[in-house]
Amino acid sequence: MRRFGEVDVAALVRSAREGSPRAVARLITLVENEHPALPEVMATLAPHTGEAWIIGLTGSPGVGKSTTSTMLVRAFRAAGRRVGVLAVDPSSPFSGGALLGDRIRMVDHALDSGVYMRSMASRGHLGGLAWAAPQALRVLDGAGCAVIIVETVGVGQSEIEIAGLADTTVVLLAPGMGDGVQAAKAGILEVGDLFVVNKADRDGADSTVRELRHMISLGDRTEPGTWRPPVVKTMADRGEGGQEVMAALHKHREHAESSGELRRRRVRRAEREVEAIALAQLRLRMRGVPDGSSLPEVAERVASGEIDPYAAARQVLDG
Ligand code: GDP
Repeated sequence: MRRFGEVDVAALVRSAREGSPRAVARLITLVENEHPALPEVMATLAPHTGEAWIIGLTGSPGVGKSTTSTMLVRAFRAAGRRVGVLAVDPSSPFSGGALLGDRIRMVDHALDSGVYMRSMASRGHLGGLAWAAPQALRVLDGAGCAVIIVETVGVGQSEIEIAGLADTTVVLLAPGMGDGVQAAKAGILEVGDLFVVNKADRDGADSTVRELRHMISLGDRTEPGTWRPPVVKTMADRGEGGQEVMAALHKHREHAESSGELRRRRVRRAEREVEAIALAQLRLRMRGVPDGSSLPEVAERVASGEIDPYAAARQVLDG
């Protein structure tokens, strides 16, 4: 058995697979800390991964992401599936997530060992989400979660990034937030597989739904066999619309599977994941080679006109 410091990887992965939330937590902390045992962790997990259905959930702060994810967790739990929730907060420098109210939700499922929840800050990683989130998802997948909900606040590029992580992407909107127009601007119309207009008890829900349907119809997804993203109305705080969302999710899943889209997305995801790891390692190598060709040293020589930047880059890569 190999050990890295005090980390017994094989035992930790075994406990995680047996359902220990503590072991899962520990493994995700290793990801966050970029622990040297990570390659061993990923190698041990690999044979157990590839089963989880990853559902991305994104939308502006306050739109109802936590409430909706609680509603979905309840539905999946009722169907007997083990569920993981990963809340990735792109804006918070602290693990724990300022914008994502997962502490409240923890109470809801605290006594249910079939649910694992974790929030994660993407700060501190080169490539942010690209580097750490896929590995955290691997941990949950390898630990036996049949469904993983990845939640992220819709700011900046995060919707687009989350779409890259998920098998099915759900975009949440609420009436009266001018969200329809915002959606078109941010390009989330292209990434949503399913649109949920939450807070349907509020004025303007129907017009938000109409506006969205119209904008979707303008998109170029009209060829036969192409997935047309449905728009579903919910009142997540009362659990209303939950069944419709579940039905739409399963429909998308079936479509993605039969059309080959699921496989394509997973391969693309793996490609980005490998690229992020390789680039991170390359950066480390460029900074650390002791034979005089490390980045700061060749940079000095480029600055003084001694060598050209292409020759310098070649030296760094060869080193
Ligand atoms: P998040 O920031 O996107 O995660 O949003 P939350 O799930 O924390 O919800 C923000 C607020 O909206 C909370 O006070 C919820 O209780 C409330 N909320 C959630 N769903 C609904 C709904 O369908 N109708 C109304 N009126 N309020 C809701």
